[in-house]
Amino acid sequence: MALFGRSDKEKEAVASSGVPQARPVMGREGYCRICKKRVMFTRCWQRPRPLAKCEACSAPFDNPVAVYAKTIPACPRCGEYLEQAGFEYGMCDGCGSKYEFVQGAKASLLPNRVQRDEMDKVGRAWIRE
Ligand SMILES: [Zn+2]
Ligand SMILES: [Zn+2]
Repeated sequence: MALFGRSDKEKEAVASSGVPQARPVMGREGYCRICKKRVMFTRCWQRPRPLAKCEACSAPFDNPVAVYAKTIPACPRCGEYLEQAGFEYGMCDGCGSKYEFVQGAKASLLPNRVQRDEMDKVGRAWIRE
């Protein structure tokens, strides 16, 4: 039995080391529509690989391919918008909102739970174009 216990632990170690880590990238300046002004995004990162579980509610995705097949991938359980492989993200220094940076396009807000609830009340148009 001891042998099984050990091999389970090893499997666990492999699984946790296989979690895709965000890669920090240079901070940048951009427009935050929550702060309604240009702000610094000091904390920026690139997501090298698709997520295997939700960062907000930690629900694992049974079928990540299906989850990511959507135009705007979101967690099937809590609705959190997911970071996509190869994309860059940043956190507004002013309000902590998360943005997705697309080359040659305006940064788009990835609203968190509180912001999504607000959107449901007043309509989504103001927050995500
Ligand atoms: Zn979730
Ligand atoms: Zn902001």
